[in-house]
Amino acid sequence: MENFKKTLVTANGKISCLRCTALSKRTRLQCGRPAMKGSKTHKCNFHGGKSTGPRTAEGRQRISKAHLIHGNETVQKRAERQRMALWFKQVEDVMHVLDMTTGGR
Ligand SMILES: [Zn+2]
Repeated sequence: MENFKKTLVTANGKISCLRCTALSKRTRLQCGRPAMKGSKTHKCNFHGGKSTGPRTAEGRQRISKAHLIHGNETVQKRAERQRMALWFKQVEDVMHVLDMTTGGR
Protein backbone atom coordinates (compact mmCIF):
# COMPACT_ATOMS: atom_id res chain seq x y z
CA MET A 1 0.00 0.00 0.00
CA GLU A 2 2.02 2.90 -1.27
CA ASN A 3 -0.38 5.78 -0.59
CA PHE A 4 -1.33 4.74 2.95
CA LYS A 5 -0.94 7.66 5.38
CA LYS A 6 -1.04 7.56 9.18
CA THR A 7 -1.26 11.32 9.70
CA LEU A 8 -3.57 13.93 8.29
CA VAL A 9 -2.27 17.46 7.71
CA THR A 10 -4.90 20.12 7.15
CA ALA A 11 -5.50 23.88 7.47
CA ASN A 12 -2.39 24.71 5.41
CA GLY A 13 -0.14 22.59 7.63
CA LYS A 14 -1.35 24.11 10.92
CA ILE A 15 -3.22 21.01 12.05
CA SER A 16 -1.65 17.56 12.05
CA CYS A 17 -3.47 14.57 13.51
CA LEU A 18 -3.89 10.80 13.15
CA ARG A 19 -5.82 9.74 10.05
CA CYS A 20 -8.49 7.04 9.92
CA THR A 21 -6.98 3.79 8.66
CA ALA A 22 -10.21 2.33 7.20
CA LEU A 23 -10.26 1.37 3.51
CA SER A 24 -13.19 1.74 1.13
CA LYS A 25 -14.47 -1.62 -0.13
CA ARG A 26 -15.50 -0.03 -3.43
CA THR A 27 -12.61 2.29 -4.30
CA ARG A 28 -9.84 0.76 -2.12
CA LEU A 29 -8.95 4.29 -0.99
CA GLN A 30 -8.17 5.24 2.60
CA CYS A 31 -10.78 7.15 4.60
CA GLY A 32 -10.00 10.88 4.60
CA ARG A 33 -11.36 11.69 8.06
CA PRO A 34 -9.22 12.22 11.16
CA ALA A 35 -9.09 9.30 13.61
CA MET A 36 -10.98 9.69 16.88
CA LYS A 37 -8.94 11.01 19.77
CA GLY A 38 -7.77 8.05 21.86
CA SER A 39 -9.04 5.51 19.33
CA LYS A 40 -7.27 2.18 19.86
CA THR A 41 -7.92 1.10 16.27
CA HIS A 42 -7.04 4.50 14.67
CA LYS A 43 -10.48 4.87 13.10
CA CYS A 44 -12.94 7.76 12.74
CA ASN A 45 -16.37 7.63 14.37
CA PHE A 46 -17.89 6.31 11.11
CA HIS A 47 -15.53 3.35 11.02
CA GLY A 48 -15.68 2.13 14.62
CA GLY A 49 -13.31 4.51 16.40
CA LYS A 50 -14.74 3.66 19.81
CA SER A 51 -14.16 -0.06 19.30
CA THR A 52 -11.42 -1.68 21.36
CA GLY A 53 -11.40 -4.87 19.32
CA PRO A 54 -12.12 -8.33 20.70
CA ARG A 55 -11.19 -8.60 24.39
CA THR A 56 -11.85 -12.24 25.22
CA ALA A 57 -10.62 -15.45 23.59
CA GLU A 58 -14.12 -16.40 22.42
CA GLY A 59 -14.57 -12.87 21.03
CA ARG A 60 -11.42 -13.31 18.92
CA GLN A 61 -12.69 -16.68 17.72
CA ARG A 62 -16.06 -15.18 16.79
CA ILE A 63 -14.35 -12.42 14.77
CA SER A 64 -12.11 -14.88 12.92
CA LYS A 65 -15.15 -17.03 12.13
CA ALA A 66 -17.03 -13.99 10.83
CA HIS A 67 -14.10 -12.98 8.58
CA LEU A 68 -13.97 -16.37 6.87
CA ILE A 69 -15.48 -15.55 3.48
CA HIS A 70 -17.83 -18.31 2.42
CA GLY A 71 -17.04 -19.73 -1.00
CA ASN A 72 -13.55 -18.22 -1.10
CA GLU A 73 -12.00 -20.43 1.55
CA THR A 74 -13.13 -23.02 4.08
CA VAL A 75 -11.77 -24.07 7.46
CA GLN A 76 -10.80 -27.44 5.94
CA LYS A 77 -8.91 -25.75 3.08
CA ARG A 78 -7.03 -23.54 5.54
CA ALA A 79 -6.09 -26.54 7.69
CA GLU A 80 -4.99 -28.49 4.59
CA ARG A 81 -2.80 -25.59 3.41
CA GLN A 82 -1.28 -25.24 6.89
CA ARG A 83 -0.55 -28.99 6.98
CA MET A 84 1.04 -28.94 3.50
CA ALA A 85 3.17 -25.88 4.37
CA LEU A 86 4.48 -27.73 7.42
CA TRP A 87 5.19 -30.81 5.29
CA PHE A 88 7.12 -28.74 2.71
CA LYS A 89 9.11 -27.11 5.48
CA GLN A 90 10.09 -30.54 6.85
CA VAL A 91 11.09 -31.71 3.34
CA GLU A 92 13.16 -28.54 2.92
CA ASP A 93 14.88 -29.21 6.28
CA VAL A 94 15.75 -32.76 5.22
CA MET A 95 17.07 -31.49 1.86
CA HIS A 96 19.17 -28.92 3.64
CA VAL A 97 20.64 -31.52 6.03
CA LEU A 98 21.47 -33.84 3.10
CA ASP A 99 23.09 -30.95 1.12
CA MET A 100 20.62 -31.36 -1.73
CA THR A 101 20.05 -27.61 -2.01
CA THR A 102 22.36 -24.66 -2.48
CA GLY A 103 19.94 -21.99 -1.26
CA GLY A 104 20.32 -20.18 2.03
CA ARG A 105 18.10 -20.67 5.04
ZN1 LIG B 1 -12.95 6.55 8.64
